[in-house]
Amino acid sequence: MATGRYDTDVVIVGGGPAGSAAAIACTARALRVRLFEREGFTRERPGETLHPGIEPVLEQLGIGSARLASVTGARYEGIWIDWNGARRFELFGQDVQGAWRGFQVQRSAFDAMLLARAAEAGALVRQPCAVSGLLMRDGVVRGVVAGGEPVTAHVVVDASGCTQWLRRQLGIDAASRSPQLIARYGYANGTCPQRDAAPQMNGDASGWIWTAMIRPGTYQWTRVSLNGEKVSADWMPDELRHLAPQGPSRGADVTWRIAGDVARPGWFMVGDAAAVLDPTSSHGVLKAILSGVTAAHLIAAVLADKASADDAAHAYHDWLEDWFNTDAAQLAHFYRELGVSGFG
Ligand SMILES: Cc1cc2nc3c(=O)[nH]c(=O)nc-3n(C[C@H](O)[C@H](O)[C@H](O)COP(=O)(O)OP(=O)(O)OC[C@H]3O[C@@H](n4cnc5c(N)ncnc54)[C@H](O)[C@@H]3O)c2cc1C
Repeated sequence: MATGRYDTDVVIVGGGPAGSAAAIACTARALRVRLFEREGFTRERPGETLHPGIEPVLEQLGIGSARLASVTGARYEGIWIDWNGARRFELFGQDVQGAWRGFQVQRSAFDAMLLARAAEAGALVRQPCAVSGLLMRDGVVRGVVAGGEPVTAHVVVDASGCTQWLRRQLGIDAASRSPQLIARYGYANGTCPQRDAAPQMNGDASGWIWTAMIRPGTYQWTRVSLNGEKVSADWMPDELRHLAPQGPSRGADVTWRIAGDVARPGWFMVGDAAAVLDPTSSHGVLKAILSGVTAAHLIAAVLADKASADDAAHAYHDWLEDWFNTDAAQLAHFYRELGVSGFG
């Protein structure tokens, strides 16, 4: 087991779903964890639609259905897809008990709930507190500078999201696997009854539009252009145009990319910090949580001398890269149906 030579066993950069899941799973394996999150969780954040399969995963992390219900604004059995004019309703899935229902969560509350669970499980959480520097010794990552103070650790887990903090610190390339894609998204208040029963994805060769009610009276939309056309900041989908926008729309770089290395002895990248696909792939939050849990499992094996640090890093890299490639191939196929190529 890990020794006290370091301030902590594991330092985690970022308290989104990936970072919190890694923290909960590490503490469950008796590791000492320090997590730093630079922001307060008061803002709207995209990524509200969660597949029903997230429920048992959250249960494993100590978040039962009552807690999940407290941050859920709506539940749906599936989504409407209109792909090149062919409209169909796609169920999330079903069994003998009926259709599975996905979750529409308020991300700020969802993230706060997961982070609170990490603290409850024993992780030392500092929020808001930004990680600003990396500690290296003999070419090996040995901790971070957080809130201006050095914190040494056996392992650093980067869960900083699409800013990919550690990848940039280490100068690791991330080859783009798609043309540059910017997701423009926004929120609006009011009523839009035709969107209350289920979200909708509308796509053609110019791009796609997503609209969803995230809780009664609040709607979210995302627009991704696939032909390079810029989406203006005041753009809104037709069906939501009569609503009151919640401030200006925002943009996020969702160009498909994966870091050339996502783990080495001394560090792991999890969630969007390791790999990004555009939101059509959906399940970004679920993937973030599962990558955090998988990294925690491997870190615990290394610190208990049950696996070598090299083997654990390789196993994690292969697992994540394979997952990314499979999803990218599916997405590229999805876009070819629209007559769009150059992806994957
Ligand atoms: C427009 C849009 C719509 C989407 N829709 C969906 C959806 O419907 N369903 C879905 O599952 N996914 C969706 N996604 C994807 C989803 O949002 C992400 O995959 C998910 O949030 C990744 O989680 P994460 O924990 O890796 O990163 P994040 O959620 O980005 O969390 C990273 C955290 O790290 C913190 N941080 C960053 N740098 C530092 C630092 N230096 N020090 C300390 N803290 C730091 C940040 O403040 C942040 O809280 C969408 C994405 C976009 C852009």
